Amino acid sequence: PAAGEIRLGQYMEQIGQPPYRARQVARHLWTAPVNSFAEMTALPLPLREKLEAQFEMPRLELITRQTSSDGTEKFLFRLRDGEAIETVAIPEGNRMTLCISSQAGCALQCAFCATGAMGFSRNLAVHEIAGQVREMRLLDSAIHVTNVVFMGMGEPMMNWKAVDPTLTILNDASGLGIGARHITISTVGVLPGIVALSERPEQFRLAISIHAPSDELRQELMPINTKYPLRDVIEAAKKFDRRVTFEYVMLGGVNDQEVHALQLAQLAKECRAFVNLIPLHPGGARGFQRSENTPRFARELREQGVEVAIRKSRGMDIAAACGQLRVERLGRRPPRPPQQDSDVQVA
Ligand code: SAH
Repeated sequence: PAAGEIRLGQYMEQIGQPPYRARQVARHLWTAPVNSFAEMTALPLPLREKLEAQFEMPRLELITRQTSSDGTEKFLFRLRDGEAIETVAIPEGNRMTLCISSQAGCALQCAFCATGAMGFSRNLAVHEIAGQVREMRLLDSAIHVTNVVFMGMGEPMMNWKAVDPTLTILNDASGLGIGARHITISTVGVLPGIVALSERPEQFRLAISIHAPSDELRQELMPINTKYPLRDVIEAAKKFDRRVTFEYVMLGGVNDQEVHALQLAQLAKECRAFVNLIPLHPGGARGFQRSENTPRFARELREQGVEVAIRKSRGMDIAAACGQLRVERLGRRPPRPPQQDSDVQVA
């Protein structure tokens, strides 16, 4: 049972209600969500009133919803403290992938990423992360999410305390009921987070943002490489007991040459990783060009025996890459000073 359900169960017991009441409430929170306790008409009225008086079930406030010509939809939600987060719904055949945020802003400052440029505000709470999927079910014409990727704003492994129970809510049949193999956590390579994920029995998928095949280059693109160097990330990927995906954003003239393909192939083979080449979304941090070498780069990897896919760019016309909509709507703000470790929760 989802963590929330256990606590709900304890609560129902305390107030002398039968255990199935907890399941009914969980169902109307996640599986078939309603707006308020008052709408949980399967519950007796006095119980509804009691719940209403004791608990809150806040919605995420929709600021904007934009639809791309390719069907991708982007949502900007305001949280109760005024923070704004992004969620992107990407239809593909009979799949509907929801790209969700795990933090407001991000502390990592990857050179090409719009979220990095805005700095870190705070970790999202469980209800704000899972709530992004819940909101899709509450829309006038509900969006039926089949897959979830933690590739929105933030670094999920630096908010593991909230991401861990969120995974349960997403996956559990009494929660949102999305298969573990359809849920992907994307990380820059936060080592304790990778270990924590591998210790979960479910088959959640791991994607690692590699972006450069050597420490020198990765250091330039991703400051976090100081704390979690490429070599250590590769070792962690090797130990991970399920197949991992490497994400590699193609930066023209920077990481897209043949030498990079050969180095990357070596690393991918060591980890038996699948490589996803990501075309750069313009409008992240400035100063980078899209690569023209992507098909050739993919071929070079394939010739080395590496499985590789080129990710289709989606939602180009609606600024759908990490952090871009919030920047466009709310403006850039000066980055905050680097976070103290104590602000960033790991495992
Ligand atoms: N912090 C996590 C998850 C969020 S970003 C991580 O870094 O993995 C999800 C993916 O989008 C990452 O691989 C990230 O590097 C990539 N990304 C960020 N900005 C981008 C841009 N402008 N174009 C293409 N991909 C981008």
